[in-house]
Amino acid sequence: MAKNYRAELTGVFGDPVDDNPTGVVEEAAFSAKGLNYRYLTIRVLPEDLEDAMKSVRIFGMKGINLTMPHKVKVLPYLDELSEAAKIIGAVNTVINKNGRLYGENTDGKGFVAALKASGTELSGKKITILGAGGAARAIAAECALNGASDIVIINRNKERGQELAQLICHKTKCAGSYLEWKSQVQIPRGTEILINATSAGFSPNIKDKPDIDYSSITENICVCDVVFNPAETVFLTKAAKQGAKIVNGLGMLVRQAALNFTLWTGEEAPLAIMEEALKKEFQ
Ligand code: NDP
Repeated sequence: MAKNYRAELTGVFGDPVDDNPTGVVEEAAFSAKGLNYRYLTIRVLPEDLEDAMKSVRIFGMKGINLTMPHKVKVLPYLDELSEAAKIIGAVNTVINKNGRLYGENTDGKGFVAALKASGTELSGKKITILGAGGAARAIAAECALNGASDIVIINRNKERGQELAQLICHKTKCAGSYLEWKSQVQIPRGTEILINATSAGFSPNIKDKPDIDYSSITENICVCDVVFNPAETVFLTKAAKQGAKIVNGLGMLVRQAALNFTLWTGEEAPLAIMEEALKKEFQ
């Protein structure tokens, strides 16, 4: 049989993108599975996105991740969207299905997978989300699609927070509401899952934490953080002191990468190897 020297291509388009660690994780998985795939970290300027998306077809790439500032702007260049991507209005993963580009959003799916792996189910749960940016939107939509009954959005910017609460109400079966973020805001009674989906605490600002009343966190709340660098944030440490169960942001990141791996290769992802590769990056 003739040898095949041609690698299958995947990667990420973003600007800035140099510090995006996903390539390390995907390459570790390709190598572990003996797949001749590559993950390219490519800086694409906003004005070049249309041409870059054409190149996905021209190069026959298996797919691509999109990060800042392309997650919303990419929509006109796609042929089809997943249910979650339609609700969120943003895409972080594209799969090239024989020239048709399918947009998915695995941010929220990665979060849900990490939560379930920690032993917490979503069905019928009351959730409070801090933040209303891209990560919060993806998580809220996926939690609603997975059967959460109520989602309260707490966000500093009122318009953005209200818009997300309305999105949940109008586009899913879950109830959504907005709570104004006052200093030392109380976590609503009855909250079963609390998620920090803000960037507060992300390196280098590792001493920052969301301005909430930490004494309102009770031991029966599962408390999650999207911040993955550092993995043990001040937010999680303070929640753990209240006796809460905690879930850090690394699980979401690695499970999202694992989902992308499967969408592009059709193979089960080597999760333990991907986790190991990610941990090494943040040592
Ligand atoms: P966006 O810029 O879209 O949104 C940021 C959000 O954080 C806004 O709601 C903003 O509030 C809020 N915010 C920022 N700083 C503070 C603060 N000090 N106090 C209260 N609210 C604050 O960012 P993303 O949603 O894309 O990303 C958010 C975080 O999630 C980042 O740290 C990112 O690295 C992380 N992330 C993690 C992933 C993972 O796999 N673990 C995946 C994706 C993202 P306002 O609207 O009021 O300005």
